[in-house]
Amino acid sequence: MALVIIGTGLAGYNLAREWRKLNPAGELVIITRDDGRNYSKPMLSTGYTKGKTADALAMQTAAQMAEQLKADIRTSASVSAIDAAAKTVTVDGDVLSYDKLVLALGADPFQPPLAGDGLARVYTVNDLMDYAKFQQAAAGKKSVIVIGGGLIGCEYANDLSNGGFSVQLIEPVGRVLPALLPVVASHAVGNALADLGVTFHFGVSVQAVYNEGDGVRAVLSDGKEIHGDIVLSAIGLRPRVALAKEAGLMVNRGIVVDRLLATSQPDIYALGDCAEVDGLVLPYVLPLMAGARALAKTLSGQESPISYPVMPVQVKTPICPVVVAPVFPNMQGEWHLETQDGNNIKALFKNGEGQLLGFALTGSFASDAALKAELGKLVLGWLV
Ligand SMILES: Cc1cc2nc3c(=O)[nH]c(=O)nc-3n(C[C@H](O)[C@H](O)[C@H](O)COP(=O)(O)OP(=O)(O)OC[C@H]3O[C@@H](n4cnc5c(N)ncnc54)[C@H](O)[C@@H]3O)c2cc1C
Repeated sequence: MALVIIGTGLAGYNLAREWRKLNPAGELVIITRDDGRNYSKPMLSTGYTKGKTADALAMQTAAQMAEQLKADIRTSASVSAIDAAAKTVTVDGDVLSYDKLVLALGADPFQPPLAGDGLARVYTVNDLMDYAKFQQAAAGKKSVIVIGGGLIGCEYANDLSNGGFSVQLIEPVGRVLPALLPVVASHAVGNALADLGVTFHFGVSVQAVYNEGDGVRAVLSDGKEIHGDIVLSAIGLRPRVALAKEAGLMVNRGIVVDRLLATSQPDIYALGDCAEVDGLVLPYVLPLMAGARALAKTLSGQESPISYPVMPVQVKTPICPVVVAPVFPNMQGEWHLETQDGNNIKALFKNGEGQLLGFALTGSFASDAALKAELGKLVLGWLV
């Protein structure tokens, strides 16, 4: 009987590493429907800036990871069912038993409901294989239409601009990074990207994409038509919950887990982008690393509930870097602009008692290590 992990993203591999440290001889099986290469997903949106192909971003092959982790890693293998009572998973028709099972399934890019005959030229990039396909499609092209002005859309807009593409970005809300930043900081990042050459279409959505010669024509909700070579859609991620739901596990936005990362079924845990931990879906690296460390201990017999200190998110827009300790919809308080010097912004989010709940730094403030450390100490944690 073994520990079985489904997923070889940062969640699956980090957990495997932490668990192996505590269990030098335990049996470990890792299943993935992709090729199992180890890579750092955040690097996908820096590929053009750093001149890296998908192959160059891959740090290890699945075989190298198997040796390092002393694990049986099954690649191109899709888990289609979990039987929580029998403690088995079905993998491409085979049935495999587990002692403990960890779902590290990640999230699916949200697909915009688009009309038109040009959808084959609309790409999403959420893993190394997507990235390779996108780079291949973009080779020799000059212009990209980016749908979505959130973290991933802005990072790709900056990266593609650095790669020499002309970029148009569509964002239905009237500013970039609306879910992460106060208005003034959004404007700083938007201005910097505009100076880099990004053209924005705010307050509209894309309705349809049509083939037009070798490129596309996108129809916006205000009737305007814009033209480009290909489209990159970055309008958000949905935790992969279907497998868990079919197995009778409790799901909400993500797979519901408690602070031990335990699902509603015995001996099944969830971690990373697919998990909703005590009500929070945090699709970032630091939360999953904290989760991997805690879960490895729990799986080794030392129950370790997770707590999250504040984990600031960096937005990799080098033209105007951003560090933000985001605020969530249930947090009561207000943004205060502390300092503004051009696109360099320091803004603090405080509650009625003056306690710091979040902060947003752009430009030179985002690179100020002492300031980030000081604010990091003051701000209240997310799950404490
Ligand atoms: C472009 C980009 C930039 C980012 N930048 C940052 C950043 O700067 N900072 C930050 O903190 N976060 C960033 N993030 C988010 C961060 O990368 C993710 O939170 C993290 O990588 C998610 O890891 P994961 O292991 O949960 O999911 P994934 O990496 O998606 O892994 C999911 C795994 O599950 C497998 N799988 C799924 N279903 C099945 C099945 N049925 N059977 C078998 N295998 C299955 C997949 O094959 C895959 O191996 C970024 C994300 C993107 C897309």
